[in-house]
Amino acid sequence: MKYYWILYFFIFTTCWSQQEDAAQIKALYDMSLSDAKGYDWLNHLSNQIGGRLSGSVQAEQAITYTKEQLDLLGLDKVWLQEVQVPKWVRGAPEFAYIETSPGFTNNLPITALGGSIATPSAGIKANIVEVQGIEELQKLGRSKIEGKLVFFNKPMDPTLINTFSAYSGCVDQRYSGAKEAAAYGAVGVIVRSMNLRLDDFPHTGSMSYDGLPLNERIPAAAISTNGAELLSTTLTLNPNILFYFKQNCRQLLDVTSYNVIGEIKGSKYPEEVILVGGHLDSWDLGDGSHDDGAGCVQSMEVLRLLKETGYKPKRTIRVVLFMNEENGLRGANAYAERVAASNERHLFALESDSGGFTPRGFSFDCSDKNFEQILSWKSLFEPYLVHLFIKGSGGADIGPLKNDQIVLAALRPDSQRYFDHHHAENDTFEHVNKRELQLGAATMASLVFLFDKYGTKTNTATSGK
Ligand SMILES: [Zn+2]
Repeated sequence: MKYYWILYFFIFTTCWSQQEDAAQIKALYDMSLSDAKGYDWLNHLSNQIGGRLSGSVQAEQAITYTKEQLDLLGLDKVWLQEVQVPKWVRGAPEFAYIETSPGFTNNLPITALGGSIATPSAGIKANIVEVQGIEELQKLGRSKIEGKLVFFNKPMDPTLINTFSAYSGCVDQRYSGAKEAAAYGAVGVIVRSMNLRLDDFPHTGSMSYDGLPLNERIPAAAISTNGAELLSTTLTLNPNILFYFKQNCRQLLDVTSYNVIGEIKGSKYPEEVILVGGHLDSWDLGDGSHDDGAGCVQSMEVLRLLKETGYKPKRTIRVVLFMNEENGLRGANAYAERVAASNERHLFALESDSGGFTPRGFSFDCSDKNFEQILSWKSLFEPYLVHLFIKGSGGADIGPLKNDQIVLAALRPDSQRYFDHHHAENDTFEHVNKRELQLGAATMASLVFLFDKYGTKTNTATSGK
């Protein structure tokens, strides 16, 4: 008979703690949806400051602003971590056209890729060869490429439901296309924008020469998807057309910048850290509202929501706004180096860098044991229509923290519209929906709360408590 009592007691306490968890999570969502501080912060970052390319005045203003706002939250500690970042500047706007015959031209929307060199001051005019990616370039070889421009026109695969997979499937042409084409004697590269929609916005993004000597580097730019369609059709009609472009970008010396960090000290295990973060830098064409202003303000919200709902974390909850994700990852690397040199243990890190759209769930980079525990929390998220709990990548900025013990995770919002805006002039505040943004913040805060309460299933002194 007494075994029944033990069982009843077990069932009772489990139900009770599930109800407690559900109530705390509801409080986080209620607070986020009724007092949308994150949306106000994003409004300021986007409309008062704007695009925040590493090393720019706007990036510095964003550091000052977010630090001030974290100070106002009354956290236990707020500080800046110094980091040297690359400074690439666009210069005067780029210009491009197709010349079908002397004097007959069509202008195309174009943007230099981040990290590219400029064209000569008079621009470059040359024949242009279309390829569907790096493999086709390699097949054509030097005889077909030398002295010409290369047009990488592999589109994102529209049949992939996860648009990030479609992006991964062709972003190599943007990142390494110039280096690859230079090896065959090309004089420049033009890339189709990483965008699933047909429109007139060219999308920038990082590219690399991967150590290629300065005198072998060639300029690289992206044209809009409509521009790419026009260029491709025109080339089909007449392969001998000329393409002209001019860009004025420059790589300057590294400058000093900062990660912005704030934390609530853990009441029971202060040396155990739960990190939540996004990247404060952005590209310069829009104002970086989705990429990644949204992730920054959601991460700041996690600490505010926990505090405002009266939750006292056992572990240290830390927000990190990383500098220079877009063109260097210097902030993330500097942070991971600092962690390695300290005696802090990071047990969980959560990144938001996939836009401020409706949250669908999370992807996790962790052990099976930890994943089992995470799946046991899934039903707590159902009332909020958050269903996706899968294994997958954690994210670029928290990647350097990876080890056998840590759980890395990424917030996974709906991704269907993300690449309409990604790295383009239309990544702006009006394209972020207040409720969607705040739902994301509450979803992150809920997961952080659960990890704080239950710990991870990793073999340490405090695991599972
Ligand atoms: Zn980003």
